[in-house]
Amino acid sequence: VSDTLEADPRPLPPAAANPARELQVQFACRQVQRSPWVVVAADAFVVWLFWRAHSPHAHEAIAWLAVATMVGLARAMHGRRLLAAGGAWGEARQRQLTLSFLAVGATRVWPIAFAFDGGDIDLPYLVTMVMMGLAAGGVTTSAGVTSLYVAWCVPVCTGLVAGWISLRTFEGSWIAVLLILMFALLVSYVRDYGRTLRRQFDLAQRLQRERDRAETERERAENAIVARTRFFAAASHDLRQPLSALRWFGAAVVEHARQMNHAELKMIGENIERILEMAQPLLRQYLEIARIDAHSREVAMVAGSVPAVLELVLDAHAREAIECKLNLRTSFGDPVARLFAHSDFEILQGIVSNLVGNALKFTPAGEVVLHAARAGPGGEWVRVSVRDTGIGIAPENHERIFDDFYQVGNPSRMQSKGVGLGLAIVRRQVERLGVRLHVESSVGHGSTFWFELPAADATPPPPAAAAGGAPAQGRSLQVLVVDDEPSVRLSLRMMLEAVGWTVRTASGLPQAVHEIQGGFAPDVLLVDFRLQDELSGIEVVGELHASGCEAPALILTGDTTPQTLADIQARGLTMLDKSRQGSELLTTIRRLVDKGS
Ligand code: ADP
Repeated sequence: VSDTLEADPRPLPPAAANPARELQVQFACRQVQRSPWVVVAADAFVVWLFWRAHSPHAHEAIAWLAVATMVGLARAMHGRRLLAAGGAWGEARQRQLTLSFLAVGATRVWPIAFAFDGGDIDLPYLVTMVMMGLAAGGVTTSAGVTSLYVAWCVPVCTGLVAGWISLRTFEGSWIAVLLILMFALLVSYVRDYGRTLRRQFDLAQRLQRERDRAETERERAENAIVARTRFFAAASHDLRQPLSALRWFGAAVVEHARQMNHAELKMIGENIERILEMAQPLLRQYLEIARIDAHSREVAMVAGSVPAVLELVLDAHAREAIECKLNLRTSFGDPVARLFAHSDFEILQGIVSNLVGNALKFTPAGEVVLHAARAGPGGEWVRVSVRDTGIGIAPENHERIFDDFYQVGNPSRMQSKGVGLGLAIVRRQVERLGVRLHVESSVGHGSTFWFELPAADATPPPPAAAAGGAPAQGRSLQVLVVDDEPSVRLSLRMMLEAVGWTVRTASGLPQAVHEIQGGFAPDVLLVDFRLQDELSGIEVVGELHASGCEAPALILTGDTTPQTLADIQARGLTMLDKSRQGSELLTTIRRLVDKGS
């Protein structure tokens, strides 16, 4: 079949000028090498036809077979050498290839002449059939190089047509005309095939060029982002120093004005301080965004306690919540030991903190709840949500609030209302964690921001004995823990949940009252002695009892001065040193509950 790729008498264009054509020629060269023995078999068949027909040229046909095989093999070897030389195919190499094809093509004329010179009636038909079969097969193996195909066709077609005309019959003339038409058709197929191949090659090259250009553009854009990020990071960092210094100068002005009793100067100083104070969060947020965009810190995913993070965030915003007269609390839908997840906990804390900051800012009254619970069909997620009872967000703004500098209802961009970067930071942080942030909100009905983290197995909660050796006997108790230290709240909760009790925690009095008013009826109150804002555990217990809770209270204290002891005893409350073992705590709680009932 490959034999059809014959010589090209026309000069080939220089390789560099037409790379598509060069590739085609090389491809054709490779195709020809693939099947020289198939061509030999076809030639042997032709020889057998001569023998079967007792042609007077039967012996010459054998000689022809030997010559044709040698020429064919020589061309295959020459083609291999040309390919092995590698590099660009110059015109000389293409011409050599063409000549070798021409040599093979020329050998085809010989058997055609024999077929028409012997008087046998079948031989012309049979040889024509074999030649046409090779010609048809060559359409694809010529790799669309029309000149090669034409070179092979010219001797074969001329031989066959001349042969049929030489018979001087009406039938012979018809067949000659048909052969010319057939060869013309085959040549047009090869030409079209070649055009398609070249078009595809050009397209592939264009695509490659466009891909390269896009790649370069992308790199340039990325470099520009990195450069911009670095610029902002440096600018924000460098600006912070002089601005801090200016603030202190402002304070100094205020102090001097106070000493000099100069009201106007004092006001100027105070304004300087106030304005610079307002610039601080802006610079902090610029710096934060620059840091995230620059990926200055690798994301470190570990398994950890989600409630621990929520308690920390609660603690950080407790004062702000009190100032806003809002009830900020945590709530867990599952025992805290089941609320472990895979995350980067520094980033997680940043996200929740930003969401809580917004919730406090946009909630005039009511509460802000940090909630965590298992979610998904098999509980394979830990859903973290920040819910508020604030002003809410209209649906059309749900997407846009995550854009840089986008704010709802602050067209004059008063910085006291924020700068619109909080959620832009959250969006970046959430992307880094690889989680999806959801918003559920409507105007006037509060907002809930939530996302899900892959749940992790907690280190198995200590069995009752390990938790302190207390027997897990008796009825399950409900405990309200009040402590301003997040880690204490969480560890107590974990230990008490491990023995099967139901635990609610509060960081201060407002949350504790909220739990009681919300319908939680504790069997015992576990209250830290020294709470925030000079509030003592004794006062908290007093308030809770006053609000209708009758549960006995156990005061936990780290400082056991005689005075503290006396105070607690005077109120008839039980006290336990925080340094005591868990087992002792459990036993004391049981004793207290049993005594009360
Ligand atoms: P800002 O600095 O203004 O708080 P953010 O990017 O944090 O910027 O928030 C963008 C906008 O989204 C805010 O201006 C506010 O209108 C809206 N928003 C964010 N959180 C809440 C929320 N909890 N309740 C109501 N609106 C919110």
